[in-house]
Amino acid sequence: MPLMKVDAIVLRTRELGEADRIVTLYSKQKGKVQLVAKGVKKPKSKLVGGILNFTHAQYWYYQGRGLGILSQYDIHESFQILKSDLKKYAYATYMAELVQEFTLEGEENEGLFLTFLTSLHLLKTQDLDLATRLFEMRLLRCLGYGLSFQTCRECEHSFDGREQKKAFFSPALGGILCERCISKDSQGFYISWGTVKILIFLLKMPIEKISVLRVSSVAKKEMEKTLHYYLTYILEKKIKSKEFMHRIEWIDQEG
Ligand SMILES: [Zn+2]
Repeated sequence: MPLMKVDAIVLRTRELGEADRIVTLYSKQKGKVQLVAKGVKKPKSKLVGGILNFTHAQYWYYQGRGLGILSQYDIHESFQILKSDLKKYAYATYMAELVQEFTLEGEENEGLFLTFLTSLHLLKTQDLDLATRLFEMRLLRCLGYGLSFQTCRECEHSFDGREQKKAFFSPALGGILCERCISKDSQGFYISWGTVKILIFLLKMPIEKISVLRVSSVAKKEMEKTLHYYLTYILEKKIKSKEFMHRIEWIDQEG
């Protein structure tokens, strides 16, 4: 069996029999890859440290006809802080679930790999909500799903940065509709013009600018709703870790 090498991040692991686990990686070279980590549940296994969620490492594996067999790894970044802080862990789990759900095995997308890696780094020190919105928008772009906030999706009326009284987000059209065109999507909803402007800025801004961005909690909620509706419209299913994230936030507010 040939020995393969990938630069990858752990998305998740699942049980396999008594002693093994299946680890799903998102790699730079081959997109999503599933490997068997043999004997990883035995006390002396050397593989266990390399298959924890969000670990970024170089992985070597043997590729036969079925799933590859993990051989060894060399860790670049363990993202320990994302594993030890429950809130950060919830956000990182959500990002990993989006990568898991939006990609197919063996489909390389270097842009998405780098976006995911950068976003995990942002979660260590930056505003968790903004880092996550930035990740969602860039994931959509890497996968070819357009998001447009500059013109009406239906009539192409240009907003030209002028203040609008009302804008409506249409999940089906991936952008905003002007007042005349709102009937084109019954699932469309009102979004304030201030939030639209932040979304336009987020789409274009260099990532390092995130540290100077200040966004009100009302705008954050609108941005979250907008992207959540668009992501679930495309996926056609619920994002499981979203509920986990909300529960953690609730505990956080109570405490
Ligand atoms: Zn229109």
